[in-house]
Amino acid sequence: MGNLDNIQKTAQKLIVLCQKEKTTKTDKEKMLQLQSEILSSIERLTECDLCGSISELIVKMTLADVSAQLCKECSIKSIQSGKIQKSTPRKRSSTPKKQNSPSTSNSKPKEIEKPPESPLELHTRIEAQTGIKKTDVKRLHKIFQDIATPMNLDNTITYVKKEVELAKLKVDEKALQKAVELLFAA
Ligand SMILES: [Zn+2]
Repeated sequence: MGNLDNIQKTAQKLIVLCQKEKTTKTDKEKMLQLQSEILSSIERLTECDLCGSISELIVKMTLADVSAQLCKECSIKSIQSGKIQKSTPRKRSSTPKKQNSPSTSNSKPKEIEKPPESPLELHTRIEAQTGIKKTDVKRLHKIFQDIATPMNLDNTITYVKKEVELAKLKVDEKALQKAVELLFAA
């Protein structure tokens, strides 16, 4: 009996045990045993070196100095072509990209790119330049971001002012204007 059949039959036994009206300690022991049987059957499964399919009929073949364990299909193909065409391992696209570590970029001096300003940095900067509390800057920023269609600076300022009034935020008008200008430029 093949390993796959074995696994299936053993799993079936497990299911039967689980479906018993009253499962006992002995059943638990049986389950453990069944599960180890399943495990060893899975470990015995052999896959084809070429296509990776798991088959009960894996043959070890050597053709033109290349040996491989092959499934029926692949061994036939190999015999027909006279060689075992082992596929070259695919280059993974997920290979980690070279990190832009400063030590390696010494060789070719590049313009140091400033990382984009994080919202927090932006808020801190606006707070420093306008004197508006950071929590309020955050709310201004939110209002600013919620503008669905981009407007010019003047309209944006008018809009934000209105929203600020509605939200009953206490922000100095000049500071507010400056803040919106900064947000606009960010
Ligand atoms: Zn194969």
